[in-house]
Amino acid sequence: MKFGIIGAGATGLAAAYDLSSKGHEVKIFESSDFIGGHASTFEVAGTELEKGYHHWFTNDEDILSLINEMGLHEIIEWFPSSVGTYQDGHIYSFLTPLDLMKFSPLSLLNRVKMGLSSLKIRYIKDWQKLESISAKEWLIQNTNQEIYDSFWQPMLRGKFGEENHDKISMAWIWGKMTTRFASRRNLFAKEVLGYPRGSFSQLFRKLAESCENNATEIFLATRINRIKGLDSGHISMSIGQQESEEVFDAVISSTPSHIFNTITEGLSEKYRSKLANVNYMAAVLIILIMDRPLSDVYWLNIADRSIPFIGVIEHTNLVGSEIYGDNHIVYLSNYLAETDLMYKMGGEELLNTYLPHLKKINPNFKREWVKEYHHYKIPNAQPVVDTNYSINIPEHETGIQNLYLANTSQVYPQDRGTNYSVGMGRKMAALALQNLKIK
Ligand SMILES: Cc1cc2nc3c(=O)[nH]c(=O)nc-3n(C[C@H](O)[C@H](O)[C@H](O)COP(=O)(O)OP(=O)(O)OC[C@H]3O[C@@H](n4cnc5c(N)ncnc54)[C@H](O)[C@@H]3O)c2cc1C
Repeated sequence: MKFGIIGAGATGLAAAYDLSSKGHEVKIFESSDFIGGHASTFEVAGTELEKGYHHWFTNDEDILSLINEMGLHEIIEWFPSSVGTYQDGHIYSFLTPLDLMKFSPLSLLNRVKMGLSSLKIRYIKDWQKLESISAKEWLIQNTNQEIYDSFWQPMLRGKFGEENHDKISMAWIWGKMTTRFASRRNLFAKEVLGYPRGSFSQLFRKLAESCENNATEIFLATRINRIKGLDSGHISMSIGQQESEEVFDAVISSTPSHIFNTITEGLSEKYRSKLANVNYMAAVLIILIMDRPLSDVYWLNIADRSIPFIGVIEHTNLVGSEIYGDNHIVYLSNYLAETDLMYKMGGEELLNTYLPHLKKINPNFKREWVKEYHHYKIPNAQPVVDTNYSINIPEHETGIQNLYLANTSQVYPQDRGTNYSVGMGRKMAALALQNLKIK
């Protein structure tokens, strides 16, 4: 059988790997000139690094088992994580639940309330009950306005923007928190995070190599312009600048929903309205390559609205600086609408907007510490998961026979991640085979 895969990110490569391992003819089409999609990399001092910070949790089972299957388990290293929040001129550590008791921006009573509400979330089994309630409403009801304003709101505002933060579903917070709780050995255990030596590209390259060894062709810089279901049950696609037409037994598309909506002919109005309902935030990253550390925290949430970025992720505080020529790597992160002024800025302008604020995090910071910087914009980085989100999730089976959609907007209630993309890609490969009645 002949399969077309649109997108060479985690989803597309995982689907292609399973199909090609079973001896099927597979062609992967990727509009960018690189593989890895949202987890793609660039080089720092001869070592690859993700354009957006990446790590794995201990319970990222789908991707960890794929890594084992590919014989790559030895490249994963596990590191103790360190998490903090910057607020009122201080970095507050959030390594264990006990650290919450030292979070002085809240009164002691509020710290206890916040701890109890986190425990309550941990023991909720049925996330569906939280679906129709916004995180704002639930958190204020179960703590109070002050706790929400000082802790939760900056995080939600940062991730989903001014226009969306108060409509995010509580089920999303539940998904995020239960994943993180479950990745710890017990309530008081410190979190450990995984990172592959040599970056996530090790996995993507190995997947691509395995596919190619099974005669899969990977076409980079090749956009799919149009998808059409034929009466025969085959799928026809218009491919690349030449707009050449090719017919497949089945196609799996990992494109964002709005792109799929634009390029696909013959979808039902109901399905189209689900696709149109998915909104995405874009991510914008400034990556500083520095001659010394900025802080001693890996993941620093910024809960100070005078600072124009929402996260400082100091990658080398997780994995060490040796493999990057003793350079220290700091991501300054934002999630923005593509129409936002800061998303539209060039690298130099954004860098100049951000740099003065680094002195708030480390008063000794000097611009000379920055040896070089990189600037990346990642469109469609985070689906906006508002209340009753599940009602509008487009189905994987698109209503066009043998055409499947598998993208990050369909990962729910967990937060999207490479683990879920790999799981989804493999599930789609199995479903496509099952529907074609192939074992
Ligand atoms: C800033 C940031 C930090 C993250 N941190 C983590 C983390 O710590 N851990 C983790 O596991 N995950 C993390 N993620 C999420 C993770 O990167 C994604 O969930 C995952 O990579 C998505 O893979 P995908 O294949 O589903 O989609 P994508 O990676 O988006 O791949 C889809 C591909 O389709 C291609 N495409 C689109 N349209 C067309 C077309 N018409 N024709 C051909 N090709 C097309 C795109 O170019 C793209 O390469 C992070 C994401 C971001 C943005």
